[in-house]
This record gives sequence, C-alpha cells and structure tokens, in this order.
Amino acid sequence: MQTSVTPTHCPYCALQCGMNLTPVPDGDGNGGSVVEVTERTDFPVNRGALCGKGRTAPALLSSRVRLTTPLVRRDGELRPAGWDEALDRIAEGLSRTRTEHGPDACGIFGGGGLTNEKAYTLGKFARVALGTSQIDYNGRFCMSSAAAGGIKAFGLDRGLPFPLEDIPRTGCVILVGSNLAETMPPALRYLTELRENGGKLIVIDPRRTRTADQADLHLAPRPGTDLALALGLLHLVVAEGRTDEAYIQERTSGWEAARAAAMAHWPEYVERITGVSVPQLRESVRMFCEPESAMVLTARGPEQQSKGTDTVGAWINLCLATGRAGRPFSGYGCLTGQGNGQGGREHGQKADQLPGYRKLDDPAARRHVAGVWGVDPDSLPGPGRSAYELLDAMGTDIRSLLVMASNPVISAPRAAHVEERLRSLDFLAVADVVLSETAELADVVLPVTQWAEETGTTTNLEGRVLLRRQAITPPDGIRSDLYVMRELAARLGVEKGFPTDPEEVFEELRRASAGGAADYSGITYRRLAEEGGVFWPCPAEEAGGTTELAADADAGAGAGGVHPGTPRLFLDRFATPDGRARFVAVSHRPLAEEPDEEYPVLLTTGRVVSQYQSGAQTRRVDELNAAAPGPFVELHPRLAARLGVAEGEPLAVVSRRGRAVAPARITTTIRADTVFMPFHWPGEGRANTLTNPALDPVSRMPEFKGCAVRVERVG
Ligand code: SF4
Repeated sequence: MQTSVTPTHCPYCALQCGMNLTPVPDGDGNGGSVVEVTERTDFPVNRGALCGKGRTAPALLSSRVRLTTPLVRRDGELRPAGWDEALDRIAEGLSRTRTEHGPDACGIFGGGGLTNEKAYTLGKFARVALGTSQIDYNGRFCMSSAAAGGIKAFGLDRGLPFPLEDIPRTGCVILVGSNLAETMPPALRYLTELRENGGKLIVIDPRRTRTADQADLHLAPRPGTDLALALGLLHLVVAEGRTDEAYIQERTSGWEAARAAAMAHWPEYVERITGVSVPQLRESVRMFCEPESAMVLTARGPEQQSKGTDTVGAWINLCLATGRAGRPFSGYGCLTGQGNGQGGREHGQKADQLPGYRKLDDPAARRHVAGVWGVDPDSLPGPGRSAYELLDAMGTDIRSLLVMASNPVISAPRAAHVEERLRSLDFLAVADVVLSETAELADVVLPVTQWAEETGTTTNLEGRVLLRRQAITPPDGIRSDLYVMRELAARLGVEKGFPTDPEEVFEELRRASAGGAADYSGITYRRLAEEGGVFWPCPAEEAGGTTELAADADAGAGAGGVHPGTPRLFLDRFATPDGRARFVAVSHRPLAEEPDEEYPVLLTTGRVVSQYQSGAQTRRVDELNAAAPGPFVELHPRLAARLGVAEGEPLAVVSRRGRAVAPARITTTIRADTVFMPFHWPGEGRANTLTNPALDPVSRMPEFKGCAVRVERVG
C-alpha cells in the first residue's frame, strides 16, 4: 500500500477527470487503509470538479460485493475455484471450440473502459493467440457512427479535434443529442463560460434536459430526425447566402452534390418531419452563422440511429459549408461517452482495425503490425462481425465467447434476445470486477483488478493520452486482465508476446501505432507523468518530428525539445489524400421502425447522472443507488391523461421485441409523442429489452434512440 497522495483519473466517463487518491484508515481497527478521493486542481479538463460517480468511485474497491475469487460452474452453480482451474477451464472451452468449429467460432467481446494497454493486448490475443477474426466491443454501441462520419469527411476520427478549452472561445455551439449536465457534469462549465463570454448555445434534444435548460435556444425534434434538421439548416444557409465560398473552394470536395441534397429539404418540409418550426430553424442559422467561429458537437442522440453515419455527415456538412472545420475555435466534434471510448477504439479491439487506427484489410498495415508482433502478416485474420452481429451469432456461428469489461445483457439492443443467445453458447467466460448480469450466465468468471489497483493509460474525448496510476494494492485473489491474457495465451500455446507490465505493453503499443493515424510513438509513461497528458498524434519524442496530420500551428516545437503532441487537428489540411474535407450527399430517411396503430408512441433511451452505462459498477455504490434506485418511464402530461396514468404508477412499455415495466414520471419536458427510459437496470425495467437492433449500414450502430412502442397501464 502506498502512503502518499496519488494523482490519477476517474474510472468512468470520457472526460477522465483528474483526482487525487489519498489513503485513509479503513476504520476496522486493524491498521488497514482504503483510499479517498480528494481534489486535484492541476488537471485542466475538470480543474478539481467531480460528479457524484467520480467522488464515490473508491466505494467499489473495498465493497463486499466485488469478486475476490474465480468462479467455475459446477452442477449448474457458480462456485469458488482456484486461478489455475478457472484459466484451464477457459483455455479448454476455447480450444475445444477452435478444434471442433474453427477459430472463428470463438468470439471476444471487449469494452470501452479497458485501458489502452488492455485493449491493445485483447486485439493481439484474439488475432495471434486465438486466431479468430471475431472480436468487437461495446464501444460499437457508443461512438461508431461519429467515427465513421469523421473518417468519411476528414479522413480521421478523433472525438474532439480541439481541446475542450476552445469551447468558451467560440461564438456559438450547437449541441446535438448530448445531455452533458448529467453524463459529464464538470463539462457543463465550458458551456457556462461560453455564454458568459457572449457566445450562444443551441441544444437539440427531444427532451428539455438540464443541459437544454442552459441553452439560448432549445430545439426539440422528433427522435430520429436529426438528419433532416441538419439538412434544413444547410438549406437555409444556402438560401440566405451564408456559405463560405472561398473555404469551400480551397478546402473541401463534393459540395455540389451535398448542396443539391440539402436544397431538396425545404424548411417547411423539415418542419413537418422534425416538429421544429421554420422560425426556430431561421434563428438557429442566424446564431450559428453570425459569429466568426462556431462548433457543432454531437453525442449519442444523432449517432445511435440506423442512419447515424449519414446524420453525423449532415452536421459536418453544415460546418464545412460555413467554413468552420479546421479553423481556430471552430469545427465539428463528438463527445465520446466511455472512459476510454477514444483509446479503446484505436488499438485493435474493433472488428475491423489494428493498432494505431490502422485498417485490418490494408496490406501495409498488416505488415507493420505483424512485424511488431513477430508473426506472418498472412496469419492475421481479416475483419470480423460488428458487436451486435457477433452477439446475434452466438449459439450458431459463435460457440464460445470471452467477455472482458462489458455487460451486454443490459447494454445491447434487443437485450432479451441477446441474453437468450448468451445462454445458448457452448462456453462463456467473463472477466469483471463484480458479478454482472452477463457474468451470472458464465461458465467461468474471473475477478480482475480495478482502476486504482493498477497502472495504465486512457485517452479522453479530446484525444489526450493520460496516465492512470496505481494507488492501492489489489486484494488477495485478484489478478489483472493482462495476467489473464498472458495465462490464456500460454495455455493456447503462445508463450511469448503477452507481458503483464503495463509500461512494457505501452512500449510495444507505441511501436505498433507508429506511422498510423493514432500515432502514440512519441508518448512515454515518463512524459505522461511529467506533463499530465499528451494529445495524439505525437509521432516523435523529440521536437521537430511531425506528420501531415500533426498540423497544429505549434506541432514539432514543444518546450524542452519534446514534440508537444497535437491538440488541434486539421488547421492546415485534413487527413484525406488530397487534404480536403469531403462533403457527403445525404437525404432524410425515417427510423427503421416508425410508430403505427399497434405501436403508436416513440421510445428513446439515455442515462441519468447517478448511474453509468449498464450500471454494473454504479448500482453497487450505496450513495448512487440511493440517488437513482431504479428505472422510470418519462412521459408528457397529455399522453399520461390519454392513458389515465398517475405519477408513480407502474407502466408497461411494449415493443415488437418485448415488454418493460417501470413507474411513470410525468413531465412537460418531453415531447407528447415520445417516452424516455434510462437503460441502466436489469429485470423487468430493462429498457434495452425494447430497443431495435436495426444497424447503420456503415458503422453497424444499432438504433437505440428511436423505436415504436405501446404504453399501457399495468393491471
Ligand atoms: Fe468521472 Fe465523468 Fe464524473 Fe468526471 S464527469 S467524475 S470522469 S464520471
């Protein structure tokens, strides 16, 4: 146990707030100690501020409900077992599947909360030790549409291509489908400072959320119509002569087709689709176009749709037509959700990618990474299924699954079906810190270390690589995910190449990422410790090293002779072959499932401030559980009156995929044609029982944000 204060970062969301961990006596009189969160003001992103989740994060370290021993299913029950027995069982399960059905019958399901080192090792484990192409992760359900849209337009996806500190310096922010007052509360101050500086805030959300309460203008479109809304705004930008023609000429391609598509979306037509009035559209255009600089920031609202990639593209089009992207204090950015949502997608646990954000089907990328791994490039499998498709194939093409840091029983769409598919597997292993709903179904469960018990790096929503430091020794019986992968690889016949020291893994990751889009080769643990964080791409340790992507004004000229990393992307050129940003020609299309007579209401889902993702961790923290003990159905008084429902009365929400029951919460802050449910809970209130797995054709993102339901009184 260390005795000094340890500066580190929160285990939860993509803001990765800085915090200090300080040992305090545990109060049992045995001289033991636990850690307490104290303020850390030197990290610029949150400057000491934390939300309740971050403040209470240590509770799970010493919680009685955390796993402290491996569990192996015997006679139908999960029973305590030794590590060797548990690891042997997993290796046997995977080996048997590989022998009987081939390597692609083994699946790996990772998580956006894994450190960069773990995400990197998991991708390598799948492709080198197991030889399977079937690996994807829960980040597919989070940010994949923004990633696909960013790559199409800019040739590169980094959540925010500028630091958060640029937000208060812009003239207007359009925030699309983000309730950051609840999902990442310390970030709200950037919007407050924006408005204090005279900037304008437009919030687009079907609900008048706590974030929307801060806005100069709140637009409440019908769920699933953000694409039409963006097209309507672009139509008005053109009609009112507000395009930046010189910028379009010099820095973009594809304008004519995108322009023609937007001009087919007349404001009155867009008003009919979205429910946002023409005067509101005009006011939005005025607020966005008048200042010298402006930003569009999207989150899960527009992204978690079966047209999420096109929707992101439409918002980027708006930025390009008005000359916003790649200019100071301007542009498009995505507010990534999970703690390592950014880094987790860069280093190889995504079905189609290799470390450094390289494409798995690119021969040069395969050669480079295979060289670092010491294997034949031809031995590397090709791209695999996306997350939902992988889960849907369980019990048929996928016979065994290893899950790490994910709880798809709660977080996947059409969750009852996913749960049934998990039960149909020949073999399921889960590594987690608690007995999650997914772990409950497993044949073997491995108890692994938590954030404060190990060192590793994460990459926050700005592309800032950070060092999370170990502050406390893990309890007896717990091992790290890196240990798990080394032991399993050895049992599968691969003795070398799976170190358990995080810094050693990071050194290999640096080499694997070198020359890729997400180039970490100039970043070291020493630099992260000394500098508090470094933005990628950082292609060299020393000053002067640069890439075309490292187009920041001061790239390559850091203090003390080090390369400073790249806080701001695209200032000189975009990451496309010709350096130009690409417009996309897109048109409105409806939700995959629109309301009808049988299912006349829209359901949208989201998060509450005191719970995080599937709730596996936060539902086990007393203070958070007391603040948000269970699900609810938010509905407008008009809909409540039509149904004859009173506040707090149990309501059944029924879709084509199942039924969920939760108490009614009646509020005027939601559209009358829409109900909202948070998705953190299991059992009869599980919101994802209802959601639609219709997938975006490019990103393979499911349509979490809109499906047709019927709402009924219970009994
Ligand atoms: Fe942690 Fe996110 Fe809360 Fe910050 S905002 S304390 S990173 S959960």
